[in-house]
Amino acid sequence: MYKKTTGIIFLVIFVLLGVGLHQVVTGQGRTEENRVENDLTCETNLQEEKINEKAGGTNDRIYIKEKAEEDENEMNTNNKNNEEKESQRNIDIKKKVHHPGQVAKVKKREEKTSQKRGNKKSKSDKQTGKSEERRHYIKKLLPDTHSEPRSGDATHIVIHFSSNALHKPENPYVVDDIYHIFLDAGVSTHYLIDRDGTIYQFVDEKRVAWHAGKGSLPGYPEYTDKLNHYSIGIELLGIGTEEEMKEINPGINYSKINPSFIGFTDAQYHTLRTLINDIISRHLAISFDRKHIIGHSDYTTRKPDPGVLFDWSKIGL
Ligand SMILES: [Zn+2]
Repeated sequence: MYKKTTGIIFLVIFVLLGVGLHQVVTGQGRTEENRVENDLTCETNLQEEKINEKAGGTNDRIYIKEKAEEDENEMNTNNKNNEEKESQRNIDIKKKVHHPGQVAKVKKREEKTSQKRGNKKSKSDKQTGKSEERRHYIKKLLPDTHSEPRSGDATHIVIHFSSNALHKPENPYVVDDIYHIFLDAGVSTHYLIDRDGTIYQFVDEKRVAWHAGKGSLPGYPEYTDKLNHYSIGIELLGIGTEEEMKEINPGINYSKINPSFIGFTDAQYHTLRTLINDIISRHLAISFDRKHIIGHSDYTTRKPDPGVLFDWSKIGL
C-alpha cells in the first residue's frame, strides 16, 4: 500500500514535470516567434522613422507603407527563389517606389492593378529602348525651408552634376552625404540620379528648388538670376574632368578618385532620358530641345556642370 501510494505520487510528479517542460518549450517557441516579429517590426519602424525624419507629409507615409509592403514581398520572393537571375534586378526595382500622385497625372500609364508586373515590364522596356515606361523613384524630400512655392509653370530643365569628391574622394557617391551637403548648404534640386540610375526626389515639382543660382539665359532676359523659378533641376551623381573639378573647388584631391567614378553611367543616361520624358509630359512648355533642356553651364560661367564628359547625344539632344 505504501509502495503503491509512493508510486502514484511519483507518477503524478512525473506527469506534472512533463507538462511543465512542454509549456516551457512551447513558451520558448512563442517567445522566439515574438522576438523575430518584434525585430522585423522594429526594423520597419526604424526605417519609417529614418525616412520620416527626412521626408514628412502624408504622401510620404503612403510611400513608406508601400515600401514596407514591397520589402516584405521582396523577402517572400527571395525565399521562394523562383526568379533566379531576375532576383537582383527585382530588388533594385522594388527599392524604387513610384510616386502616388504621378499615376493620376501622367497619361498612357500601365494599369495600377499590375504594378509589380508593370515594374518588371518597364525595366525590360528599358533594355529594349522603348521610351514609354513608368517612372520609379525614391522620395527623399528636403525640408520646405530649402525651396519655395512656384507661381508659374516650369519652362526649362537644368542638368547638373554632384558628388562628395571633395570630402570623400574614395567614396563620393553616398546619397545621404549628398542630401546633407544640400541640407547644410541651403540649396536643393528636384531630382538626383544615382550611379545605378535610381531617381531620388528631393523637392516636389510644384515648388521652386534652389539649384541654378545667379546667371542669365540668352532669349530669356526676364530669367536673369531667376531661372530657379522657371526650371526643374536634375543632379546626376557624377564627377567632371580635373580641370572642371578644380574650378569648383581647387582643394579637391583628384588623384584619389577612382577613374570609374569619373563621368556618367549608361544607367544614368537612360534614367535621365526617361525622367525628362516624364517631366515634359506634365510641363508642356518644356520642349525636348537644347533650348529648353540645358546644362547649368549654359546659364552661368560660374559652374562647369554637367561638363564636357556629359554626352548630350546619349539622351537624344
Ligand atoms: Zn550645377
